[in-house]
Amino acid sequence: MATISTTQIDPRVLSFLEKPRKMLINGKWVDAVSGKTFPTYDPSTGEVLAQVAEGDRADIDLAVKSARKAFDEGPWRKMTPSERGRLIWKLADLIEQHLEEFAFLESLDNGKPLTVARAADVPLAADLFRYMAGWATKIEGNTIPLSVPYTPGAKYLSYTLREPVGVVGQIIPWNFPLLMAAWKLGPALATGCTVVLKPAEQTPLSALRLGELIVEAGFPEGVVNIVPGYGETAGAALAAHADVDKIAFTGSTEVGRLIVHAAAGNLKRVSLELGGKSPNVIFKDADMDVAIPGAASGIFFNHGQCCCAGSRLYIEKEVFDKVVEGVAASAKKIRVGSGLDPKTQMGPLVSEEQLNRVCGYLESGFSQGAKAAAGGHKKGDKGYFVEPTVLVDTTEDMKVVQEEIFGPVVVAMPFSSADEIVPRANDNVYGLAAGIWTRDISKAHRMAESFQAGTVWINCYNIFDAALPFGGYKQSGWGREMGHEVLNNYTQTKAVCARI
Ligand code: ADP
Repeated sequence: MATISTTQIDPRVLSFLEKPRKMLINGKWVDAVSGKTFPTYDPSTGEVLAQVAEGDRADIDLAVKSARKAFDEGPWRKMTPSERGRLIWKLADLIEQHLEEFAFLESLDNGKPLTVARAADVPLAADLFRYMAGWATKIEGNTIPLSVPYTPGAKYLSYTLREPVGVVGQIIPWNFPLLMAAWKLGPALATGCTVVLKPAEQTPLSALRLGELIVEAGFPEGVVNIVPGYGETAGAALAAHADVDKIAFTGSTEVGRLIVHAAAGNLKRVSLELGGKSPNVIFKDADMDVAIPGAASGIFFNHGQCCCAGSRLYIEKEVFDKVVEGVAASAKKIRVGSGLDPKTQMGPLVSEEQLNRVCGYLESGFSQGAKAAAGGHKKGDKGYFVEPTVLVDTTEDMKVVQEEIFGPVVVAMPFSSADEIVPRANDNVYGLAAGIWTRDISKAHRMAESFQAGTVWINCYNIFDAALPFGGYKQSGWGREMGHEVLNNYTQTKAVCARI
């Protein structure tokens, strides 16, 4: 590990980073079959943080075999729902006991402020597992009265069983590495599936630490396998694997399409949580003391690296200047720096690739006539920092308005009425989230109904809870994460019909 100031880092984290990290297959920590490792970087310096075993097709094969055996033969299927729930709860306790370590790992590997990882990522992950632990004992079928017309006089007892889908492949992104692992693993474990998890190559560390706690909690071997590696190799092999029953993916819409194609071979079930370009609509009757900071955090939280970021800010024309001024002032005040600095409010973007992508969008916006009311540039020459940016003078046809930037860049545009804004807000291939800011409750709920979005926030933004389903309309995805709805992704229904 290079020049990170070691004084302030939790010593348990330092020792975790020292040795190349292995992958978890069948309850054992093993090297890649190829013996290869890949580096993960500290995005605030661009320097190598740790080496990680590089999984590929052969490792995915071993992991799927192990998950298959654990599903078909292992003690997992014979455990009672209550025993499964207790293990999941124990994992949540362990995460909380190791909160500091996880917060450091997330901050170092992803770049996010340590303070945010401590307050949000890690507690939300623990909470998600607890919520799902409760569901393990509540996955029920129904009894169904029949009226079969062609067997007059016959009586039947009919009911449904909700059974786990089997071996699940889970591919997750780098923006909330631990939390995305929790969103995926929690419901799979609650329903009794077994898993092969592939973390993002940019941020594999917290998932690997989580794997250690999964072993410590006492999950039977093979129930959770964790194979770090690149998307085009390990990820593609998992998505295409003939012995995987279901693939759950969070990431870009572009890769989502590849997953759908890869899944076609054995017609495995697919759930997708994909991109967004979410409209955030501020009416002139909104409480500006809440709406302006809300709009700023709606885009700048997690450096804009949120699929649901409020990246299209629509402002009623009478208050346009005031809101833009307020959001731009917030942007300029944000302290950008290393995630480990307690004063930092925004860290670096996750990778050089991401920095180049965001800067490319900024150039494209400027070349098409956009102006920056705040920010607009890369920041510094070390690490992957970019200024929190507010773009004005944008039009609907610009790339910066239509496409997901996945960085701290918001486009602000005026509108003149509720009737006008609904079609404009919905005029996008994505449909993940939307925000509305108004004091008029009827208008708020009417608008909520008209948005083509899986989540609508009213007078708030980026509010997540393990109980609240999350997912996309249109090209933002298939299926829902969290809430009881996610259990549908991991169960299948068997109808049983008995003549009595
Ligand atoms: P981003 O563009 O934001 O990095 P991606 O959609 O590329 O997001 O990545 C999200 C996850 O998908 C990561 O774990 C990545 O390794 C994986 N991935 C990327 N390409 C593929 C692919 N062709 N098949 C399967 N998984 C992939």
